[in-house]
Amino acid sequence: MIQEQFEINTNTTLPSRINQVDWDDLPFGKVFSDHMLVMEYKNGAWQTPAIESFANLSMHPATSVLHYGQTIFEGLKANKTENGEILIFRPDMNAERFKESCDRMCMPQIPNELFVECVRKLVEVDRDWVPNKEGYSLYIRPYIMATDEYVGIKPSDNYKFIIFTCPVGAYYSKPVNVKIEEFYTRAAEGGVGRAKTAGNYAASLYPAKLANEQGFDQLLWTDGKTHQYIEESGTMNVMFIIDDILITPSEESDTILRGITKKSVIDLARSWGIKVEERKVSVQEIIDAIRDNKLQDAFGIGTAATIAPIAKIGFRDEIFELPPVEGRNISLRIKNSLDNIKQGKEPDTFGWCLKIK
Ligand SMILES: *Cc1c(COP(=O)(O)O)cnc(C)c1O
Repeated sequence: MIQEQFEINTNTTLPSRINQVDWDDLPFGKVFSDHMLVMEYKNGAWQTPAIESFANLSMHPATSVLHYGQTIFEGLKANKTENGEILIFRPDMNAERFKESCDRMCMPQIPNELFVECVRKLVEVDRDWVPNKEGYSLYIRPYIMATDEYVGIKPSDNYKFIIFTCPVGAYYSKPVNVKIEEFYTRAAEGGVGRAKTAGNYAASLYPAKLANEQGFDQLLWTDGKTHQYIEESGTMNVMFIIDDILITPSEESDTILRGITKKSVIDLARSWGIKVEERKVSVQEIIDAIRDNKLQDAFGIGTAATIAPIAKIGFRDEIFELPPVEGRNISLRIKNSLDNIKQGKEPDTFGWCLKIK
């Protein structure tokens, strides 16, 4: 699994900041590990990556990413096991999705093996930053941005690939209230919803702000054409349980981001004999199920939160209260099992984790 053929320079200068960290109070995404990895693309090729001290970037004001948003990112996690080994969860899947995002945004791909080795090496260098506390992880953020110093719209000739990491605690502390959005759209068919690209998230801020003002934590996005079918929950995929069947919007259209957590949950549930349906999920069907007391569970799924239980769903003028979170046995079992596999407490029968000894 270890790819010795890739050369990565290490070039660290600053003293460690690890003693300044308050490990009991880790707000998500605000504490950064000692190092970052930087790899430049120029003259038509990716150059040798380097691991450097975490530091600010200096940029020309016309750097094209700042104006035209040609950029993509990924998000994955590493955990420390009880005996001090580090497990990175499915980095090969992030590598694959990164390539797909690259294609959609006209950016040069990074081969999967190189992507994974860059992630592995950076985590190894900052292994002391991987928390070994229940509910905590090292969040890993790879991204590529267009760095041409040029005003004008075309695919950039130069790029920077950067990875930094953050020790993090829990993402959401309590179950979320979501509103079914029937006007604004996260992603249109033929658009960039399937790519993890910055503009998708910038575009979601305003509708999310309006929902916040109405007392909701986030939106349940519906399809851009008819607003009759549910697609995602905030920046997570979404699942429902009706009649003990796990139901989730299928990814046939290019408007839904293909989540790695979602894929893992489906594989896990199926291995337990739970029935899973990947298909169109209509708003009407969910509302009917709530009215008939048949909606057992609804939750968002993604790397940051793993499983984010939904407490209330707002639809037009009504707010529906879902069953109490404590009784949601299936999603609790899924969350526990997934967390256990990530922390090495349960056998990794699917071979999902990349281990650093
Ligand atoms: C990242 C992301 C997800 C979740 O993907 P994971 O691979 O499970 O983290 C879902 N929806 C959107 C819009 C995302 O950006």
